[in-house]
Amino acid sequence: MYEFNAVLKLVEALLDWAKKNNVEEVLVIRLRIGEAVMVDPDHVKRNFQLLTKGTLIGDAILQIENEESIVKCKECGYKGRYLSQRYGGGVILSPKCPKCGGKAEIVQGEEYVIKGIRYYKKGSRLAEETFYDV
Ligand SMILES: [Zn+2]
Repeated sequence: MYEFNAVLKLVEALLDWAKKNNVEEVLVIRLRIGEAVMVDPDHVKRNFQLLTKGTLIGDAILQIENEESIVKCKECGYKGRYLSQRYGGGVILSPKCPKCGGKAEIVQGEEYVIKGIRYYKKGSRLAEETFYDV
């Protein structure tokens, strides 16, 4: 359910943005999702298709970029890649240090943002690109 709601929030924000900016058609949406968010990109894509059907972003290509998850250990000072073993439906589990097993904190990998949108404005066939953060 988390994934569905998160995508719903994105779609609502995008439609709102499109309305305010006189957008006719959205071509590409670049989304950046951190590994620590632990959502399945395939689920995000499926929900996105479902929620945008028939809207002006319904035919947009959704590109999902992965943001590596980095943790820092509070005990031994280890800083590095942290790979969670499973997708937890959006729940960020408190990570353990891969080196000593101690308590670590996530320092990178919690993003869930729109990084860019390619679109046509009404009456224009010149694709424009914007950067956008929800
Ligand atoms: Zn450690």
